[in-house]
Amino acid sequence: MTDCLFCKMVNGEIAPDKVYEDDDVLAFNDINPVAPVHILVIPKKHISTLNDAEDEDTMLLGKLNRVATGLAEKAGFAGEGYRVVMNCNDAAGQAVHHIHLHLLAGRQMTWPPG
Ligand code: AMP
Ligand code: ZN
Repeated sequence: MTDCLFCKMVNGEIAPDKVYEDDDVLAFNDINPVAPVHILVIPKKHISTLNDAEDEDTMLLGKLNRVATGLAEKAGFAGEGYRVVMNCNDAAGQAVHHIHLHLLAGRQMTWPPG
């Protein structure tokens, strides 16, 4: 999608602070981190919100989680713990309408989230 910030990262128009890439997925450091580790894991395919994912995207959604857990382990937080979050639409605070999984680690998380 031409007017999407994260698609521009996928197609190279904007260079993210990349931490992982494969054929389906890109991961990069959040520009405004809310934890010592704050990585966004996105599909290369443009999907606006979780509501727009279809059955054919099921493996892709799973892969976002697998990549996040791998990055959490690599960063040394598998045992200590970490959080993965996906926001959907305004009430959850979704600002970028290209789905992304937030990987947060390195501080004590509160529950429920704000
Ligand atoms: P959300 O509110 O769930 O849509 O999260 C969007 C996230 O994208 C926020 O945590 C922002 O800090 C992050 N973000 C926005 N622009 C950039 C950028 N250019 N590079 C990295 N992260 C970004
Ligand atoms: Zn996009």
